[in-house]
Amino acid sequence: MKIAVVAVQGAFIEHITALHRLGIECIELRKKEDVLKPYDAIILPGGESTVQGKLLKELHMFNTIKEQIESGIPVLATCAGLILLARYISNDDREYFKTLPVTVKRNAYGRQLGSFHTINDFGDLGKIPMTFIRAPYIEAVSDDVEVLSTVDNNIAAVQYENQVALSFHPELDDDTKIYEHFIKLINTHCSN
Ligand code: GLN
Repeated sequence: MKIAVVAVQGAFIEHITALHRLGIECIELRKKEDVLKPYDAIILPGGESTVQGKLLKELHMFNTIKEQIESGIPVLATCAGLILLARYISNDDREYFKTLPVTVKRNAYGRQLGSFHTINDFGDLGKIPMTFIRAPYIEAVSDDVEVLSTVDNNIAAVQYENQVALSFHPELDDDTKIYEHFIKLINTHCSN
């Protein structure tokens, strides 16, 4: 199994380190040629969605990645990555992949709660540590989206088909349960 991590901006190294700890091979997607290489899944890291979206378009990587997601390649999106996937962004006119039928709000926790850490239930994985940094939250989901975690009444994690999207940063905590959940999803997708 090989996981491709979008590496144009933001916290991509931390995802690669976490995956290496689990013995998973990674490749970095930095330029147009990279998105044509073989891989089984994609990680969209946290960072700044506006910068990442702009760079992916300028570097001619955007359309190929969008097509791969639309074709069902498993994706794990964290924070800015969630914003890139969302069909609607309630407080920004910019548009990106739009493959995940949710409405997301950028920088949703306001200034006082710019960054915080909590431990919260996540699907059937039990308690997970969650680090939020100028995080978005999900304001609305379409019926077929599964809500995996809600923090203070705000949706913080969802799954829709092969897309798992989180408003927090699993790569900044030692817990690997979310990566294991994603690896299971990739194995199921590869064996179909
Ligand atoms: N605030 C960032 C954005 O709007 C997301 C923050 C993050 O990825 N930690 O893109």
